[in-house]
Formats: sequence, C-alpha cells, structure tokens
Amino acid sequence: MLVDCPTCKTPVEWSEKNPHRPFCSDRCRLIDLGAWASEDYRIPSREPVSEDDLINPDHHDTH
Ligand SMILES: [Zn+2]
Repeated sequence: MLVDCPTCKTPVEWSEKNPHRPFCSDRCRLIDLGAWASEDYRIPSREPVSEDDLINPDHHDTH
C-alpha cells in the first residue's frame, strides 16, 4: 500500500518497514509537526493583556 507523504507528497510504502509512516522520513515528520506548532503560535490570544494591567497589576484587588 502506498500513501503520499503529507509533507513532500512522495509516495511512501505504508508498512512496518517504514517507521516514519505516513511520512517518507523523520525529517518530513518533524517538518509537519513544526508546521502545526507555528500555526498554533499565530492564533492570537482572545484576551490580550491591557495596558492598565501592565502598569497597575494589583488594581483589581482594590474593590
Ligand atoms: Zn516526505
């Protein structure tokens, strides 16, 4: 059975002889993991820290 490597689209054999399946190599596996990590990193925070919190971080406790 052949599958396409998700990273470089090279047909690779899906077998126990290929420990990196469905990738063609450990390098492609790491590239794919890195792509996911960098996509996560680009997702903006839903609650950005406000300038007020940076200047006066204890002001929430004054009430
Ligand atoms: Zn590959």
